[in-house]
Amino acid sequence: MSSNPQADNSTTLGQNESLTLGSFVIRPVSGGQYRIDGGTLFGVVPRLLWERHFPPDKNNRILQETNCILIETGQKRILVDTGYGTKLTPRFCQHHDITQTDPLITNLDKKDIRPEQIDLVILSHLHFDHAGGSTCYDENQQLVATFPNAEYVVQRQEWETAMADLPELKGAYDKKDFEPLARTGQLRLVDGDQQILPGIHVRKTGGHSQGHQVIYIEQENEGAVFAGDICATKAHRSVAWCMSYDTNMLQTRREKMKLLNEIRHHNWWLLFDHDPVFWAMKEP
Ligand SMILES: [Zn+2]
Repeated sequence: MSSNPQADNSTTLGQNESLTLGSFVIRPVSGGQYRIDGGTLFGVVPRLLWERHFPPDKNNRILQETNCILIETGQKRILVDTGYGTKLTPRFCQHHDITQTDPLITNLDKKDIRPEQIDLVILSHLHFDHAGGSTCYDENQQLVATFPNAEYVVQRQEWETAMADLPELKGAYDKKDFEPLARTGQLRLVDGDQQILPGIHVRKTGGHSQGHQVIYIEQENEGAVFAGDICATKAHRSVAWCMSYDTNMLQTRREKMKLLNEIRHHNWWLLFDHDPVFWAMKEP
């Protein structure tokens, strides 16, 4: 645990640090790093402002983490988001500087966890960098669920939007990342606010994608919220710092303000999905 170098007195956690809330142990697991055009992550924010936080390379690309969150409750192992997985094309990997072949499974293995041991997967939304690791090809080149014993929780609206082949969302979703889950009977669709397990609930925010959800973890008056792409990095706490990918940017801004106020009120942890340095922070 360290004080923030930007002198805002917040407490931050790095990739090798864990968080204990009551009987829950929470750790980040990288679902893979990649590089992406800086403008996509910061939308209307001028480069002169965002490049202080995320120095771009010569191709204007910045480094992004895909922080998946492992929650161990004592009874169950829960994974929030699954990174980009193993189904990307060589061309895509080249453009995005992806060299890791199976980052999520490799990084779970380093924590002594096998795919069969995951009981529940909660997906903030179904874009490739969050849902890509949910499915993979088996030895017969058949698409299967990566976590064979897990139930996968998705907002119904996100599922229906992603499955609808909407021309205005062409390229936003790849059905290979999630369609097999319906066949295997592992899919649990939820609507709006829903308790998933005691101490864990989800809330639909929309904004970034139509059925985007955030994940609340609460134990004995302590709490943490995985904000997904509503607040992807520490820099995104400023209300206008939104991604160009947002389908409804005003909704993202409203939900971010609501979420940050709630977190400050309760003195909870905020968990970031794309910050390559900090996966969790708490304000004083
Ligand atoms: Zn994302």
